[in-house]
Amino acid sequence: MIVVKAGGNGNLDMEAICADVARLVEQGEQVVLVHGGSNETNVISEKLGHPPRFVTSVSGYVSRYTDRETLEIFAMVTAGRINKLLVERLQQLGVNAVGLSGLDGRLLEGKRKSSLRVIEDGKQKILRGEYSGVIQWVNAGLLKTLLEAGYTPVVAPLAISHESEALNVDGDRAAAAIGSALKAEKMIILSNVPGLLRDFPDESTLIPHIPPEQAEEYLERYAQGRMKRKILGAVEALHDGVRQVIIADGRTAQPLRRALAGQGTVIQ
Ligand code: ADP
Repeated sequence: MIVVKAGGNGNLDMEAICADVARLVEQGEQVVLVHGGSNETNVISEKLGHPPRFVTSVSGYVSRYTDRETLEIFAMVTAGRINKLLVERLQQLGVNAVGLSGLDGRLLEGKRKSSLRVIEDGKQKILRGEYSGVIQWVNAGLLKTLLEAGYTPVVAPLAISHESEALNVDGDRAAAAIGSALKAEKMIILSNVPGLLRDFPDESTLIPHIPPEQAEEYLERYAQGRMKRKILGAVEALHDGVRQVIIADGRTAQPLRRALAGQGTVIQ
Protein backbone atom coordinates (compact mmCIF):
# COMPACT_ATOMS: atom_id res chain seq x y z
CA MET A 1 0.00 0.00 0.00
CA ILE A 2 1.27 3.44 -0.95
CA VAL A 3 0.07 6.81 0.35
CA VAL A 4 0.84 9.65 -2.06
CA LYS A 5 0.69 13.34 -1.14
CA ALA A 6 0.73 15.72 -4.06
CA GLY A 7 0.01 19.36 -4.56
CA GLY A 8 -0.70 22.39 -2.54
CA ASN A 9 1.61 25.12 -3.65
CA GLY A 10 3.92 23.97 -6.34
CA ASN A 11 3.09 23.71 -10.00
CA LEU A 12 3.12 19.93 -9.98
CA ASP A 13 2.37 17.83 -13.02
CA MET A 14 -0.94 16.42 -11.77
CA GLU A 15 -1.51 14.79 -15.15
CA ALA A 16 1.70 12.78 -14.80
CA ILE A 17 0.88 11.99 -11.17
CA CYS A 18 -2.57 10.62 -12.10
CA ALA A 19 -1.04 8.56 -14.91
CA ASP A 20 1.43 7.01 -12.46
CA VAL A 21 -1.32 6.33 -9.91
CA ALA A 22 -3.27 4.58 -12.66
CA ARG A 23 -0.26 2.46 -13.58
CA LEU A 24 0.27 1.39 -9.96
CA VAL A 25 -3.42 0.56 -9.48
CA GLU A 26 -3.37 -1.45 -12.68
CA GLN A 27 -0.44 -3.42 -11.27
CA GLY A 28 -2.59 -4.31 -8.27
CA GLU A 29 -1.14 -1.77 -5.84
CA GLN A 30 -3.47 -0.11 -3.33
CA VAL A 31 -3.01 3.68 -3.45
CA VAL A 32 -4.45 6.53 -1.39
CA LEU A 33 -3.96 9.96 -2.94
CA VAL A 34 -3.94 12.95 -0.58
CA HIS A 35 -3.85 16.42 -2.10
CA GLY A 36 -3.52 20.02 -0.96
CA GLY A 37 -5.17 23.22 -2.05
CA SER A 38 -3.58 26.19 -0.37
CA ASN A 39 -2.42 27.96 -3.52
CA GLU A 40 -5.75 27.74 -5.31
CA THR A 41 -7.56 28.76 -2.12
CA ASN A 42 -5.46 31.94 -2.07
CA VAL A 43 -6.37 32.72 -5.68
CA ILE A 44 -10.11 32.12 -5.21
CA SER A 45 -10.17 33.98 -1.88
CA GLU A 46 -8.77 37.05 -3.65
CA LYS A 47 -11.39 36.76 -6.37
CA LEU A 48 -14.17 36.48 -3.80
CA GLY A 49 -12.98 39.60 -2.03
CA HIS A 50 -11.78 37.79 1.08
CA PRO A 51 -7.99 37.79 0.58
CA PRO A 52 -5.92 35.31 2.58
CA ARG A 53 -4.45 36.57 5.81
CA PHE A 54 -1.15 35.09 6.93
CA VAL A 55 -0.07 35.54 10.51
CA THR A 56 3.12 34.84 12.44
CA SER A 57 2.74 32.82 15.62
CA VAL A 58 4.63 33.72 18.79
CA SER A 59 6.95 30.78 18.04
CA GLY A 60 7.75 32.25 14.62
CA TYR A 61 5.71 30.02 12.30
CA VAL A 62 3.73 31.60 9.48
CA SER A 63 0.24 30.22 8.99
CA ARG A 64 -3.06 31.02 7.38
CA TYR A 65 -5.75 32.58 9.56
CA THR A 66 -8.73 30.36 8.78
CA ASP A 67 -11.84 32.22 9.83
CA ARG A 68 -15.23 30.72 8.99
CA GLU A 69 -15.40 32.34 5.56
CA THR A 70 -11.89 31.18 4.69
CA LEU A 71 -12.77 27.67 5.84
CA GLU A 72 -15.79 27.64 3.53
CA ILE A 73 -13.70 28.83 0.59
CA PHE A 74 -11.03 26.25 1.43
CA ALA A 75 -13.70 23.52 1.48
CA MET A 76 -15.19 24.71 -1.80
CA VAL A 77 -11.85 24.77 -3.58
CA THR A 78 -10.13 21.75 -2.04
CA ALA A 79 -12.94 19.26 -1.47
CA GLY A 80 -14.74 20.68 -4.51
CA ARG A 81 -12.85 21.62 -7.62
CA ILE A 82 -9.43 20.08 -6.91
CA ASN A 83 -10.79 16.81 -5.53
CA LYS A 84 -13.41 16.36 -8.23
CA LEU A 85 -11.05 17.12 -11.12
CA LEU A 86 -8.59 14.54 -9.78
CA VAL A 87 -11.40 11.99 -9.55
CA GLU A 88 -12.48 12.87 -13.09
CA ARG A 89 -8.96 12.40 -14.46
CA LEU A 90 -8.41 9.13 -12.61
CA GLN A 91 -11.77 7.81 -13.81
CA GLN A 92 -10.75 8.68 -17.40
CA LEU A 93 -7.61 6.60 -16.81
CA GLY A 94 -9.68 3.62 -15.67
CA VAL A 95 -9.20 4.06 -11.91
CA ASN A 96 -12.36 3.79 -9.82
CA ALA A 97 -11.48 6.81 -7.70
CA VAL A 98 -13.67 7.99 -4.81
CA GLY A 99 -13.16 11.57 -3.67
CA LEU A 100 -13.74 12.38 -0.05
CA SER A 101 -12.58 14.85 2.54
CA GLY A 102 -11.56 14.14 6.11
CA LEU A 103 -15.07 15.19 7.15
CA ASP A 104 -16.77 12.33 5.36
CA GLY A 105 -17.38 9.36 7.62
CA ARG A 106 -15.20 11.16 10.18
CA LEU A 107 -12.22 10.05 8.10
CA LEU A 108 -9.85 12.49 9.83
CA GLU A 109 -10.82 13.57 13.32
CA GLY A 110 -8.92 16.15 15.29
CA LYS A 111 -8.73 18.83 17.87
CA ARG A 112 -9.78 22.31 16.84
CA LYS A 113 -7.40 25.16 17.53
CA SER A 114 -10.02 27.87 17.95
CA SER A 115 -7.66 30.77 18.56
CA LEU A 116 -4.19 31.78 17.43
CA ARG A 117 -1.65 33.68 19.49
CA VAL A 118 0.12 35.89 16.96
CA ILE A 119 2.54 38.77 16.70
CA GLU A 120 1.31 41.79 14.76
CA ASP A 121 3.09 45.15 14.62
CA GLY A 122 5.41 43.87 17.34
CA LYS A 123 2.51 43.15 19.69
CA GLN A 124 0.99 39.87 20.87
CA LYS A 125 -2.62 39.36 19.87
CA ILE A 126 -5.17 36.59 20.13
CA LEU A 127 -7.18 35.85 17.00
CA ARG A 128 -10.39 33.96 17.71
CA GLY A 129 -12.74 32.11 15.37
CA GLU A 130 -9.97 29.95 13.89
CA TYR A 131 -11.00 26.73 12.13
CA SER A 132 -7.86 24.63 11.87
CA GLY A 133 -6.63 21.72 13.85
CA VAL A 134 -4.40 18.73 14.41
CA ILE A 135 -5.49 15.22 13.37
CA GLN A 136 -5.74 12.80 16.28
CA TRP A 137 -7.63 9.87 14.82
CA VAL A 138 -8.09 8.31 11.37
CA ASN A 139 -11.05 6.16 10.32
CA ALA A 140 -8.78 3.51 8.82
CA GLY A 141 -11.73 1.11 8.52
CA LEU A 142 -13.41 3.38 5.99
CA LEU A 143 -10.31 3.54 3.80
CA LYS A 144 -9.74 -0.23 4.08
CA THR A 145 -13.35 -0.90 3.08
CA LEU A 146 -12.91 1.22 -0.04
CA LEU A 147 -9.49 -0.19 -0.92
CA GLU A 148 -10.59 -3.79 -0.46
CA ALA A 149 -13.56 -3.17 -2.73
CA GLY A 150 -11.22 -1.89 -5.44
CA TYR A 151 -11.77 1.86 -5.04
CA THR A 152 -8.95 4.40 -4.92
CA PRO A 153 -9.57 7.08 -2.26
CA VAL A 154 -8.65 10.68 -3.12
CA VAL A 155 -8.56 12.71 0.10
CA ALA A 156 -8.93 16.47 0.58
CA PRO A 157 -7.23 17.86 3.70
CA LEU A 158 -10.22 18.85 5.80
CA ALA A 159 -10.85 17.23 9.16
CA ILE A 160 -13.73 17.07 11.59
CA SER A 161 -13.36 18.28 15.16
CA HIS A 162 -14.54 16.25 18.15
CA GLU A 163 -17.48 18.70 18.22
CA SER A 164 -18.14 17.97 14.50
CA GLU A 165 -16.91 21.25 13.05
CA ALA A 166 -15.04 21.30 9.74
CA LEU A 167 -11.33 22.09 10.07
CA ASN A 168 -8.55 23.05 7.70
CA VAL A 169 -5.58 20.70 8.21
CA ASP A 170 -2.14 20.44 6.69
CA GLY A 171 -2.01 18.04 3.72
CA ASP A 172 1.42 16.62 4.54
CA ARG A 173 0.36 15.84 8.10
CA ALA A 174 -2.92 14.37 6.81
CA ALA A 175 -0.98 12.03 4.52
CA ALA A 176 1.29 11.06 7.41
CA ALA A 177 -1.71 10.30 9.65
CA ILE A 178 -3.31 8.15 6.93
CA GLY A 179 -0.03 6.36 6.19
CA SER A 180 0.39 5.59 9.88
CA ALA A 181 -3.18 4.41 10.37
CA LEU A 182 -2.95 2.07 7.39
CA LYS A 183 0.61 0.99 8.22
CA ALA A 184 1.44 1.76 4.59
CA GLU A 185 4.68 0.38 3.23
CA LYS A 186 5.51 3.65 1.57
CA MET A 187 4.55 7.28 1.73
CA ILE A 188 5.59 9.45 -1.21
CA ILE A 189 5.47 13.22 -0.79
CA LEU A 190 5.66 14.97 -4.16
CA SER A 191 6.69 18.58 -4.11
CA ASN A 192 8.16 21.33 -6.27
CA VAL A 193 11.71 20.44 -5.26
CA PRO A 194 13.71 17.23 -5.92
CA GLY A 195 13.70 16.39 -2.18
CA LEU A 196 15.39 17.84 0.88
CA LEU A 197 18.21 20.09 -0.25
CA ARG A 198 21.31 20.65 1.85
CA ASP A 199 21.58 24.15 0.44
CA PHE A 200 18.14 25.29 -0.73
CA PRO A 201 17.48 26.26 -3.58
CA ASP A 202 20.56 24.61 -5.11
CA GLU A 203 19.08 21.41 -6.56
CA SER A 204 22.51 19.80 -6.93
CA THR A 205 22.63 19.54 -3.12
CA LEU A 206 19.90 16.89 -2.84
CA ILE A 207 20.19 14.72 0.26
CA PRO A 208 19.50 11.23 -1.13
CA HIS A 209 19.08 9.37 2.13
CA ILE A 210 18.28 10.16 5.74
CA PRO A 211 18.53 7.53 8.47
CA PRO A 212 15.24 7.82 10.43
CA GLU A 213 16.97 8.26 13.76
CA GLN A 214 18.63 11.36 12.33
CA ALA A 215 15.53 12.80 10.66
CA GLU A 216 14.91 15.33 13.41
CA GLU A 217 18.52 16.49 13.22
CA TYR A 218 18.22 16.98 9.42
CA LEU A 219 14.96 18.84 9.97
CA GLU A 220 16.63 21.29 12.32
CA ARG A 221 19.71 21.70 10.15
CA TYR A 222 18.40 21.91 6.60
CA ALA A 223 14.65 22.31 6.33
CA GLN A 224 13.10 25.73 6.34
CA GLY A 225 9.58 26.96 5.98
CA ARG A 226 7.17 24.48 4.52
CA MET A 227 9.73 21.70 4.09
CA LYS A 228 9.80 21.43 7.88
CA ARG A 229 6.27 20.05 7.95
CA LYS A 230 7.09 17.47 5.33
CA ILE A 231 10.00 16.10 7.34
CA LEU A 232 7.93 16.34 10.52
CA GLY A 233 5.17 14.32 8.82
CA ALA A 234 7.78 11.80 7.69
CA VAL A 235 9.15 11.42 11.22
CA GLU A 236 5.63 10.86 12.60
CA ALA A 237 4.76 8.33 9.89
CA LEU A 238 7.97 6.31 10.35
CA HIS A 239 7.47 6.33 14.09
CA ASP A 240 3.97 4.93 13.62
CA GLY A 241 4.82 2.06 11.31
CA VAL A 242 5.28 3.39 7.77
CA ARG A 243 8.34 1.60 6.40
CA GLN A 244 9.69 4.20 4.00
CA VAL A 245 9.05 7.85 3.20
CA ILE A 246 10.24 9.37 -0.07
CA ILE A 247 10.20 13.11 -0.71
CA ALA A 248 10.39 13.53 -4.48
CA ASP A 249 9.91 15.84 -7.43
CA GLY A 250 6.30 16.18 -8.59
CA ARG A 251 7.09 18.39 -11.57
CA THR A 252 8.62 15.66 -13.74
CA ALA A 253 7.29 12.95 -16.02
CA GLN A 254 6.67 9.64 -14.21
CA PRO A 255 7.09 11.17 -10.76
CA LEU A 256 5.95 8.11 -8.80
CA ARG A 257 8.00 5.71 -10.87
CA ARG A 258 11.07 7.85 -10.24
CA ALA A 259 10.33 8.17 -6.54
CA LEU A 260 9.88 4.41 -6.21
CA ALA A 261 13.21 3.96 -7.99
CA GLY A 262 14.78 5.98 -5.20
CA GLN A 263 15.06 9.37 -6.87
CA GLY A 264 14.46 11.95 -4.16
CA THR A 265 15.15 11.96 -0.45
CA VAL A 266 14.54 8.50 0.99
CA ILE A 267 13.97 8.28 4.71
CA GLN A 268 14.27 4.71 5.91
P1 ADP B 1 3.71 21.60 -1.56
O1 ADP B 1 2.78 22.74 -1.62
O2 ADP B 1 3.97 20.95 -2.88
O3 ADP B 1 3.33 20.63 -0.50
P2 ADP B 1 5.58 23.26 -0.08
O4 ADP B 1 5.67 24.58 -0.73
O5 ADP B 1 4.70 23.11 1.11
O6 ADP B 1 5.17 22.19 -1.18
O7 ADP B 1 7.02 22.74 0.38
C1 ADP B 1 8.14 22.71 -0.48
C2 ADP B 1 8.98 23.95 -0.27
O8 ADP B 1 9.82 23.84 0.87
C3 ADP B 1 9.95 24.23 -1.38
O9 ADP B 1 9.34 24.81 -2.51
C4 ADP B 1 10.94 25.16 -0.71
O10 ADP B 1 10.53 26.51 -0.90
C5 ADP B 1 10.84 24.84 0.77
N1 ADP B 1 12.10 24.42 1.40
C6 ADP B 1 12.62 24.95 2.52
N2 ADP B 1 13.79 24.38 2.86
C7 ADP B 1 14.04 23.42 1.93
C8 ADP B 1 15.10 22.48 1.75
N3 ADP B 1 16.15 22.42 2.58
N4 ADP B 1 15.03 21.66 0.69
C9 ADP B 1 13.97 21.72 -0.16
N5 ADP B 1 12.94 22.58 -0.03
C10 ADP B 1 12.95 23.45 1.00
